[in-house]
Amino acid sequence: MKVIVDWLASCGGCDVSILDLGVKILDVVKEFEIIYWPVALDFKKEDLKSSEADIAIVNGAVRTSEQEEQLKLIRDKVDVLIAYGSCACFGGIPGLGNLFKSEDILKTAYVETPSTTEGKIPQEVTKVDGFELTLPKFLEDVKALDDVVDIDYYVPGCPPSLSTIEEMVELMLKLKKGERPEKKVLASDKSLCYECPRSKSFLRPPTINRPHEVVADEERCLLEQGIICLGFVTRGGCGARCVRVNMPCRGCYGKVPNAFDFGTEAITAIAMAGTGEDYLPPIRITEAVDRIKDVVGLLYQFCLPKSKLGDLK
Ligand code: SF4
Ligand code: SF4
Ligand code: SF4
Repeated sequence: MKVIVDWLASCGGCDVSILDLGVKILDVVKEFEIIYWPVALDFKKEDLKSSEADIAIVNGAVRTSEQEEQLKLIRDKVDVLIAYGSCACFGGIPGLGNLFKSEDILKTAYVETPSTTEGKIPQEVTKVDGFELTLPKFLEDVKALDDVVDIDYYVPGCPPSLSTIEEMVELMLKLKKGERPEKKVLASDKSLCYECPRSKSFLRPPTINRPHEVVADEERCLLEQGIICLGFVTRGGCGARCVRVNMPCRGCYGKVPNAFDFGTEAITAIAMAGTGEDYLPPIRITEAVDRIKDVVGLLYQFCLPKSKLGDLK
């Protein structure tokens, strides 16, 4: 079977994460012929245009007209398109750009940075020595892949954990045998709290602490200690890898299936956390939420393009 691996608006971490397979990648190469992987080998767009493939694994979000075009080209070529990583599945960290107008992002990047003296925003069409050069259009919004084309399987994570990548390889082997597994999202349908090893007493947090402001107890739920951990609204599947090293979950596996919207569900759950004697009056919670420095950045770190809040610009 022939496989395409490509990146769009991506940091490159997702491509690198495939190497987490270690020597098992040799088994993958035995079973599949990788016909296009620009990060790993010197492929050109022309190679993609002239090839046919069965499966494509695409990471990164869609930020430019070129990426949109590339994604549509890939979709036309393959039977199975896998969205790989949080950027591809939900817009990811590049998706936070949707808080700003595209023209303001370009101005900040090309004109207003402290080290820039004579900034100039690149023009989409420029003439150099009589030749017309064109640049891709910087789109108004960052999109997840399924905002542009149909996606067959989602592999969430920033980047996906090794166990999730291994699950993807198993999926590909099944596809090779002609099977078409129904499970669309290669993650748990339950929240991360189910796989988190910390003790949970369901106590309301007394206040909100940023992770660097306190030394967290490594045994107890972080949220109960006032450190916002979003594991309760996040799909499990990563093995609670952040929480195991005393860092809160930021939601890179996306929202649990029944949640309406990641951020609004999260803030509601934080406000309602705790029961009985540990009840704190709502004003305390309001004050606590005021201590969050960047509400949207925290609650939609990986999924702003999928937010139900609409246009925040
Ligand atoms: S999901 Fe994370 S690791 Fe993958 S491309 Fe996006 S930012 Fe990078
Ligand atoms: S909120 Fe975080 S720390 Fe608490 S149980 Fe869930 S995943 Fe673990
Ligand atoms: S703990 Fe949360 S943020 Fe960390 S890898 Fe797992 S899902 Fe992603």
